[in-house]
Amino acid sequence: MRGIGVLLRRPGCPSPASASTLSSRRLWFSSTRSTHCPHQTQVTQQQQGEDVLKVSKKRQAEDKWKLPDSPCRTRFAPSPTGYLHLGSLRTALFNYLLARATGGQFILRIEDTDQTRLVHDAEKRLFEDLRWAGLSWDEGPDVEGPYGPYRQSERLSLYDEHANQLIREGKAYRCFCSPEDLERHKQAAHESGESTAYPGTCRNVSQEESDDRASRGEKYAVRFKSSDKPIIIEDILYTRYRKREPEEDFIIRKRDGFPTYHFANIVDDRAMKITHVIRGAEWLISTPKHVELYNAFGWEPPKFAHVGLLVDKERQKLSKRHQGVDMSWYKYNNIPPEALLNFAVLLGWSQKSGEPDFMTLQDMIDRFSFKFSKGDIVVSFDKLPYLHEKHFEHLIHQEPPNLPRVHRYLVNPIIDRFVDVEMARVETPEAALEEATVHNIPLKSLASPVPQMAEPSASAQEYMLHALRTSKSVKPDLELFLSQNRYAIWTIPDSVLSQNFDETPSLKHATLDGEAATPSVVMRFIVEQLSDLVSSKGEEGSAEEKQAETEEWTAEKIKPMVDSMVKAVSVSDPETGEPIKGAGGYKFLRWALLAGDHGPGLVSVMELLGRKETMKRLVTAYKVALDKEKDKKHGRIGSVAEEVAAGGITLALFDLFP
Ligand code: GLU
Repeated sequence: MRGIGVLLRRPGCPSPASASTLSSRRLWFSSTRSTHCPHQTQVTQQQQGEDVLKVSKKRQAEDKWKLPDSPCRTRFAPSPTGYLHLGSLRTALFNYLLARATGGQFILRIEDTDQTRLVHDAEKRLFEDLRWAGLSWDEGPDVEGPYGPYRQSERLSLYDEHANQLIREGKAYRCFCSPEDLERHKQAAHESGESTAYPGTCRNVSQEESDDRASRGEKYAVRFKSSDKPIIIEDILYTRYRKREPEEDFIIRKRDGFPTYHFANIVDDRAMKITHVIRGAEWLISTPKHVELYNAFGWEPPKFAHVGLLVDKERQKLSKRHQGVDMSWYKYNNIPPEALLNFAVLLGWSQKSGEPDFMTLQDMIDRFSFKFSKGDIVVSFDKLPYLHEKHFEHLIHQEPPNLPRVHRYLVNPIIDRFVDVEMARVETPEAALEEATVHNIPLKSLASPVPQMAEPSASAQEYMLHALRTSKSVKPDLELFLSQNRYAIWTIPDSVLSQNFDETPSLKHATLDGEAATPSVVMRFIVEQLSDLVSSKGEEGSAEEKQAETEEWTAEKIKPMVDSMVKAVSVSDPETGEPIKGAGGYKFLRWALLAGDHGPGLVSVMELLGRKETMKRLVTAYKVALDKEKDKKHGRIGSVAEEVAAGGITLALFDLFP
C-alpha cells in the first residue's frame, strides 16, 4: 500500500395606573429624593417604592438561588433497570455540580430493590457512561466510602431494622393481605366508584397477633401508618407543595423482604448524610411519603429540588424512541462528553444573564446556582451542533492539550476518514479514478499524502493536531474538515495545479514591483525570497537539518517575509483591468500551495506543511507556470532546464526537487 498512515417601560417610569396602585407600598420608601426621568418629568415616591420592591424581589429570588455556604452531600441514585439517558445524566450532573460547587461530596448509590426489573448489564453501563461523561463520584459501590455499602441490595438488614423500629413504635404495621385479596378489593372499589386505596384491613391486627403470625412464617408486607391529612412539603423550586389527597398506608417493605424504593431511599439518604436531593419532577408526588417517613423517625429531611421533566415539542416525555436520549447516540456522533454536559446543564437551569452558553465542566461548577425553571422543559437539539463546535474549538486550542480527548474526538476520527480516502485512492483502478469520490473528496484531485501523514505514527497524530489548530473553525462534520483541508494532507497532482492555473486568469495579469510580470517570473521571485529563510540545514535528513526546519520555519519568521513579498506583487481583473484589492502575491501562494482552495491563512499553511513541502509546491508551481508560457512542444523538464541554465533560479532547489 502506498503511504497509508492510518472531527427581548424602563425602570423608574411606571404607567399612571400602576403608580396609583402603589400607595400602600410607600412604606418601602423613606427618602424624598427624586430622580429625573426623561419620559415623565419626575419620579414619585411611589415609583421609587416600586423600584425598591423590584430590587427586593430580585434579591429574594437571588437568595433563593444561592447555594449554601456549607459543603453539600448529594447523590445520584439510579435503578439498574435501564441505561443512563439524557434525563438521568442531567440529574446526575446537577447533583454533581452542587457537591463540587460547595466543596461537598457526590455519591453514587445503586437502588436495586426492584429485583424483578433488573437489567443485567445496566449497572456496569451506568458506571461506564458516567465515567465517560466525566462525572466522578466520591463514594459509590466501586470506590466505597464511610457510609457503604452503596448498593441497596447489600443493605437489607438496615431497612429491616428501621421497619421493625416503626412497627415497634406503632407507626407501621404488618399487612398479611395476599396480592389476590388486594387485587379483589381494588376491582370491587373501582367498579363501585370508590377509592382504590388500601382500606387499612390489617391496621387493626393486634401487635400480639401480628408477631405470632409473623413468627409462624406467614408472609407479610410492612405498611406505614400515613396521616389522614395531606402534608405540606418544601421544595427549592416549588416552595410549598401539598397533594389533594392524604397518602394511603403505603408499603415500606415488600412481601419478598425487600424494602420499597420510598423506604430504602429515605433510610439511605439519612444514613449517608445527604443534605440535598435534586431529582426529576416525577418524584414530587412521592415526596410527601418521604417526608412523612422522615417525620416518623424524627429526622430532618434533606432539601429537595424537583427539576422539570424533559419533553419533546409535542410535550411528550422524552423517551427511548427520541434520538439524542441514549448515551450511545452521543458516542456514535462523536460528541465530546463536555459538550453533552454543557447541553444537558442548560435543560432547566439558567446562569446569570449575559454569561455565554459555552461552558466547560469547571465553568458549570463555578456558575452553578439553584436557578432552575419550573415545569416541563422542552428539549430542542438545535443548540447541540453549536456547542459541539465550541467544544471542538476548546479541545483544539486548550493549553496544554488534553491529548487523550483530542485524539479520541478529533485526531483519530479524522485519521480514520483519511485512511478510507487513501485506501480508495491507492486501490481504485486508474480508469475509475475520474469519477470516484470518497468522503466528498474527488480522488483524482489527490496525489500522495504529505510525508507527515505517510506513516501510522504519533507524528501523524501530532501533524493532524497542528492542522486542526491551523484551521479557522472545525465543524462537527469531520469529513468537511478533511475535504476543506485536503491539501494539508495530500499533495497536489500537477494536473490539478495546471487546471486551477487555467481557471484563475488574474494570475496572468500580474505586476512585480509595478512592472508587468509573467506568472513564472512572479513564482520565481516568490521561491527566491523564501529560499533564504532557513539558513543552515546540514545534511539532508540529518537531525541538524530537522532542527533548523522546525526552529527557523515558524509562522513568526515566515510572516514578515511573506508580507513584504506579497505586497510586491499585484494582480488585476483581466476584464476591467482594475487591480484586485489585497496583496496580489496571495493569489499566487494560494494557487501554488492549495490549488486555489479556500481555507486557513497561508502563513499557517506554510508553517504546517514545513519548509520542504512548501518549497517543493512553490517550485512545482513555478514549473507549471513556465510550462504554460513555453512552447508546449518542449517538455516541462526541458523548459525548466533551460530556465535553470539561464541562471534564473536557485539551482540548489532544483537539486532538492528535481
Ligand atoms: N432510584 C430512583 C430513580 O431511579 C431515584 C429517585 C431519587 O432520586 O430519589 O430515579
